[in-house]
Amino acid sequence: RRAEYAAIRGLPAVTRDGLQTTLMVNAGLAEDAATLDATGADGIGLFRTEFQFLVSAALPGRDAQFKLYRQVLDAAGERPVVFRTVDIGGDKALPYLNDIRDEAENPAMGWRALRLSLERTALMKAQARALIEAAEGRTLRVMFPMISEPWEYEEARALFEAQVEWVRERRQGPSRIEYGAMLEVPSLAEMLDQLLPRIDFLSIGTNDLTQFLFAADRADPRLALRYDWLSPAILRFLRRVAREASAAGVPVRVCGEMGGRPLEAMALIGIGISNFSITPAAVGPVKAMVRSLDASAIRTKVEQLLARPPRDMRKVLGDWAKRHG
Ligand code: PEP
Ligand code: MG
Repeated sequence: RRAEYAAIRGLPAVTRDGLQTTLMVNAGLAEDAATLDATGADGIGLFRTEFQFLVSAALPGRDAQFKLYRQVLDAAGERPVVFRTVDIGGDKALPYLNDIRDEAENPAMGWRALRLSLERTALMKAQARALIEAAEGRTLRVMFPMISEPWEYEEARALFEAQVEWVRERRQGPSRIEYGAMLEVPSLAEMLDQLLPRIDFLSIGTNDLTQFLFAADRADPRLALRYDWLSPAILRFLRRVAREASAAGVPVRVCGEMGGRPLEAMALIGIGISNFSITPAAVGPVKAMVRSLDASAIRTKVEQLLARPPRDMRKVLGDWAKRHG
């Protein structure tokens, strides 16, 4: 298997009937940029900036952040890197920031990510400056986690734009900036008509989204078998989002673990999603699946299945995948 994945590393992630997909990787540390060459991925679709905060003994200053971001951009070269602003708080407490420690009963639904960033604006401003300066002369791609309503995106973006203006009064700044939203909270899906005209891309975080759709804690092993990424509820939900985004001309990427499983990625292609950011080890298996897939056949199959969902979608799709190589 490993030899098989190595053999297709340099080949395009295109289906048998010519659908071009993009396979990017999820990353969080400077070293992770090396996985781009090792896997042949198209870029970093999710750079989890909070990793640096979690592994540091003290709050990383603007310089330390700048260094990391510049290093990652240098290593990626021409390949795009999507930086996600910090998703801290909740269960990702920082020992050196006592005031964000959270004893909430449901930290996943608590004061975390953008909710925290919009109130701790000094933190967010420092990160914005570090990102903007690190991307001097190149494209900066940034996205915000755990948006529940469009105004949160607008506030975060306005904060960034103010920093961009400040930097550009003094030097060149990024050549271009792309702003994205993460869809992780179901309420945002209801407001896409307001959000889509304002964003350059939409990134679906299926880890959080699934737990909120099913009201099932993603960290509780007793629930791990209870909800399934291939359930019709999720696929229908994502299909609706993909259609709306595509009608608005906004690219969609799935950056949760769902996209890193070949069968799930196949189903996602079936509902019209063809951009993935996945764990590096999944690039080979997903690319192998893509290259053996007939995209129009899976689209037809998934449409049929979603019209009259079988009890065990996983089994039906698994059997289909076996029959179709
Ligand atoms: C997600 O929720 O799917 C996601 C990509 O973000 P994280 O796993 O870092 O919460
Ligand atoms: Mg998330």
